[in-house]
Amino acid sequence: FVGHEVDFVKGVVAMDGLPPDDRPEVCFAGRSNVGKSSLINALTGRKGLARASNTPGRTQEINYFTLGPEKYLVDLPGYGFANAPLPVVEKWQRLLKQYLSGRATLKRAFVLIDFRHGVKKVDDEIMTLLDRSAVPFQVVMTKQDKVKKWDQDKILEQVRDALNKHPAAYPEMVVTSSEKGDGIPTLRAIIAGLD
Ligand code: GDP
Repeated sequence: FVGHEVDFVKGVVAMDGLPPDDRPEVCFAGRSNVGKSSLINALTGRKGLARASNTPGRTQEINYFTLGPEKYLVDLPGYGFANAPLPVVEKWQRLLKQYLSGRATLKRAFVLIDFRHGVKKVDDEIMTLLDRSAVPFQVVMTKQDKVKKWDQDKILEQVRDALNKHPAAYPEMVVTSSEKGDGIPTLRAIIAGLD
């Protein structure tokens, strides 16, 4: 699903705006600035594609992209904006819950974790929501190139410990660097294998 097979479909603000659930989909979630746009761009080989999701007005939407003719890639808004107005946060949380619990074709959620920071409280909350919604999820570590090799093990251990508490979590993480390209083919293969 590289290049021309990937296109922006639409931004969704309410459940009735979702495209027909006629194909499997995967979603990407993560704190703001985790490197989600960079990862989606690296994954699809189309620079600037996920920028569509980061333009003002689009940031609170569930953004749909096609991955070839047979799948959707769903970009969920970045969470953890401390300064967003409460009604905005609440509206977004409601939509997120409805989406996660009501989308039968959602095959897997990828939860992005910044390698430098490990699992934060908001990440843990999203994982709990995924547990409750019975959505299997897999952690994708981002920005591996920013962490020295000898610091990586203890962070990965913290993440593993956190994942142990979540029944919906896959134990295997995907370690990536959008900058260097590490882990991108692996992630692509995982998505290609989901039906
Ligand atoms: P988003 O808010 O989650 O969409 O995050 P972005 O993709 O916009 O990335 C946030 C910042 O982290 C930007 O300055 C990116 O250049 C940087 N970044 C993202 N991925 C990587 C990576 O793999 N390595 C490095 N060194 N920087 C990255």
